[in-house]
Parts: sequence; structure tokens; C-alpha cells
Amino acid sequence: MKLGVIGSPIEHSKSPEIHTNFANQFDLDLVFDKYLVNKDECLEWIKSFFESGGLGLSVTLPLKEVVLEIADDISLRAKQAAAANMLFLNNGKIYADCTDGLGLVTDLKTKEIDISDQKILILGAGGAAKGIVPSLLKENPNQVIVANRTLEKAVQLVAQIQELGGSQMKSSILMPSSLTLDNLENTSFDLVINATSASTSPDQNLEVDPSIFKGTAAALDLYYSQADTSFMKMAKEQSVAKVYDGWGMLVEQAAESFSQWTGFKPDTKGLLESRGA
Ligand code: NAP
Repeated sequence: MKLGVIGSPIEHSKSPEIHTNFANQFDLDLVFDKYLVNKDECLEWIKSFFESGGLGLSVTLPLKEVVLEIADDISLRAKQAAAANMLFLNNGKIYADCTDGLGLVTDLKTKEIDISDQKILILGAGGAAKGIVPSLLKENPNQVIVANRTLEKAVQLVAQIQELGGSQMKSSILMPSSLTLDNLENTSFDLVINATSASTSPDQNLEVDPSIFKGTAAALDLYYSQADTSFMKMAKEQSVAKVYDGWGMLVEQAAESFSQWTGFKPDTKGLLESRGA
């Protein structure tokens, strides 16, 4: 079984160790490599990977959007995200899916963090935010606010998801905002998710007011990191009881992709515990 992960940079990727752990649970003979693939060569590269016996690929930055161009079939959640994090050769056709949102929801449930009927603040409106918002909405939250440094991108994200969600999507449930949250005075959030890329570099500063954590039960940074990110530190300083990084989501989105590729549903417990999640 030939699988792999593509992106640029790719050296940091934990996908090979995660998928090898899953394969060992079922004694599967699996090869999972990481491949440095750039945007301009990506479609040709994917074509030849599948022509030479490849079964599936995880897709990471900056290829998540461009890979949709080669897909014969795209899942609704990948259409909503306008991005895919996995490709799968099924009956000779390339299928594209986005398992990030399901990965996050599974992780939140494992951590006993409520979504249903909750007020959720998402910081950021890039690819990761697009991937998670549709899955969070399926869990019937009270409200999801997407707050972004560039307001226009939050407005676009909300409009795009509302369009695909159809008329049943109430605009009071999914709302855009700037990062200053000027339009939301005195609102408190049950769950705050950092979907910005600010944590990826120590030089970047996430300028949010610590008061966003007033009354917050849980905070999660999608970035996975051994040390607390500045977002996580701020949440802890504001006495948020449950504060996590994105390791759990990473493992769970991988588990969903693995199930689709192989037909085996892996146990994620060992990997989650190995990071204290
Ligand atoms: P992206 O598409 O490049 O989007 C970046 C977002 O971050 C944009 O909304 C940008 O705002 C915002 N941003 C960047 N620097 C900022 C700063 N200093 N202050 C405030 N906002 C800032 O990136 P992405 O793919 O969405 O990834 C976002 C994060 O999710 C990364 O940390 C990534 O590692 C993580 N992620 C984790 C998983 C997982 O499985 N755990 C999966 C996917 C992604 P502007 O629009 O104003 O530029």
C-alpha cells in the first residue's frame, strides 16, 4: 500500500509516524513517505504518483487548494472548504476530501468540550478556518463568529459557507468580525479556537484582547507544538480551564483519512496520550 504526504516545506510533517502507527495496529504492509512538492509541479506529480500504484495522499500547505483541480470527485466538505487535505484513488478516479473539520470535532468530543448550543469564536479566516467551520456548524452550535485581521476575508468565508449551506443557514449563527470584535461588545465565548497562523513563528504577534477569554471554558490552538503557544499562554493566564494545541486534531484528521484509504478504523488513543492530549 503506497501512501504519502505532499507539501512544501514537508520536513516537519508528523504524518509518516502517525500513519505507520495506524498501519501497525492492523499489520498492514504500508509505505508512507513525505514528498517535497511545489505548487507548479504538483498536478503532474500527483498524476504520476497514482499512475505508479499510489493509493492515497495527505496534502498540506501550500497545495490544499490547487489539488482540487486534479480531482474527479470532490466531497461537499472539501467544496465548502474550497480545499482538500487528502486525495484517494478509488475505482480509477481521484477523490478529494477535507477531513480537518471532522478531525477537530472528534478531538473536541474526546476532550469533552461541548460544541452543541455553544458560542464559538474562531480567530482567522484562512484555509484551516474554512475547513473547520462547516463541521462545527453540523454540531448545532448557538453561534460561530469568524474574526479575522483582514475583515474582508472573514466576510467572504461566511458568505461562501452560507451559499453552499443553503437557506437553512441562519446568518445569526455564522457571523464575520474583525479581530477587534468591535461589533460584539459584552459577548462571551464558550470556546475560542485559534485558526490563525500566528503561532507558526515566534516573530508573529496575535493581537487580540485577553478579554476574549472572559467566561471561556475551553481554548484550542490549531497549531501543534510541544511548548505552549502565546495564544495558549494567554488563555491560561485568563484562567481558561481546558487549553490545548492542535495535536489531537492532527491525529484525528489522519485517522479519518486512513479509514477511507484502507477500510480500517485506527485507535488514536496511544498517539493522543503520547502527547498528553
Ligand atoms: P492560512 O491559510 O495561511 O491563513 C492564515 C490566517 O492567519 C489568516 O486568516 C491570517 O489573517 C491570519 N494571521 C496570520 N498571522 C496573523 C497575525 N500575526 N495576527 C492575526 N492573524 C494572523 O493558514 P492555515 O492553513 O489556515 O493555517 C492556520 C493554522 O492552522 C496554522 O497554525 C496551521 O499549522 C494550523 N493547522 C492545523 C491543523 C491540524 O491538523 N492541527 C490542520 C490545518 C492547519 P489575514 O487574512 O489577515 O492575513
